[in-house]
Amino acid sequence: LSILLVVSAASSQVHYNRYQPTITVPGPGVCGDGLLDFDEDCDDGNTTDDDGCSSSCVGPLHWVGADPHVHDDGCEPPDLSLERLLPAARAAGLQIVSLLLWQGDLSERARSFTGLDHPASTRELILHRDVEVSGLPAAQTGHLMLLGLTPPLDPVLWTAHSSVAIVEQMRARQPRLLIGMAHAGWPDPRTLTFPAAPGAAVDLPVLAARGDLDFIAFELSLPKQPEHFDWIPLSNWIRLQNSGFRLPLLGASDYPCGNRIPGSTRSYVLIDGTPTYRKYLDAIRQGRVSVAVYGDDRLDLRIGTARIGDEVRAEPRINLRVESVLSTEDDVRVVVNGETAAVVHVPPGRQVRSVELTLRSSAWIHLRSRRAITNAIYVIVDGASIPRADRAICYFIDWIDHARQDESIELGSDRVVAHAAYHEARSILVDRLKSKDAKDCGW
Ligand SMILES: [Zn+2]
Repeated sequence: LSILLVVSAASSQVHYNRYQPTITVPGPGVCGDGLLDFDEDCDDGNTTDDDGCSSSCVGPLHWVGADPHVHDDGCEPPDLSLERLLPAARAAGLQIVSLLLWQGDLSERARSFTGLDHPASTRELILHRDVEVSGLPAAQTGHLMLLGLTPPLDPVLWTAHSSVAIVEQMRARQPRLLIGMAHAGWPDPRTLTFPAAPGAAVDLPVLAARGDLDFIAFELSLPKQPEHFDWIPLSNWIRLQNSGFRLPLLGASDYPCGNRIPGSTRSYVLIDGTPTYRKYLDAIRQGRVSVAVYGDDRLDLRIGTARIGDEVRAEPRINLRVESVLSTEDDVRVVVNGETAAVVHVPPGRQVRSVELTLRSSAWIHLRSRRAITNAIYVIVDGASIPRADRAICYFIDWIDHARQDESIELGSDRVVAHAAYHEARSILVDRLKSKDAKDCGW
């Protein structure tokens, strides 16, 4: 017993000491010396322009403000138009907006759906027509965002009852479609019961386990947690990562629903050169996204030349370049495999810090402040895979079990399809457990 006490006392110390981070403010580098300094995007050993690395060592990749989820119809107030949306999007500094058809108007407007940039788009602001599956029977199992959709819209989109059934059909028709889950009603984290309102994220782990989900998006929860992330979607994203699902996290406003404004939650996407909708979709697919809530704070993480969304092979001792552009002073957390490994206190404005720490295993690493969060860089040490947490996997297995038993979830004619998918997803998750008898699941 005394040995156990010693062990638990040791492990309850401030846990990021295990990583013994060293945080420094790097000095300015010399552009053109061939060394990648902390204030440089690139350094190709010369100061020539137009060779991929500019004469000021600024690379072609840059952050573009985007809102992947706005509407020009529906929700309150009912009187909406592009005349209201466009100036609001410009004022928020957005350059790309996904304008999603949804609900009852979908069937009417489906015939005129182009899947193209809206004619009101300009060089400064791309407005693109896509689709959200919500306000429909399918919303029972999760609001789907379909990005990069091409016409014609299939009527099955709004007659199917289960997101599993919709995704199966959309994937078959359009393999490159980006499918995400939006503004879900998350299950209660203790009881795993789903909210009664339509839009509960019932199928989230099912789609994730079957490889059918490309991202999850979340919005401001008003007015529950003003000025902060909503912890529940964030914790579910962390659990997905800890289960080995590299799903990008997106921020979106769902304007005008909930009286939100465009960009109130946003996604910064890393784009090479002139932004286009295609590049934006590719950036999301690669996880090159940094999310901001309540404004335009932005965090950026690099490891050598690796950017957010990349996988990189590294020695255990790694050097992180932590860049912040914050509106107020704040703590920036370096989060390793879901746990805080270092805390960097930074003033507002653009700041760059060097954080050196020693990893004990392969890891997914991201940054988080009060109002900004990055997606992950996946660091592979000694060729080992990133450890998975049975606790997180068990959580999603329990989630699926609750979904299977919940009689109030309306699956309609898709019941057989959905339950087959639940069964398959559950098997995939059980296979991921380290302890195959699932002791950690508490069954
Ligand atoms: Zn919506």
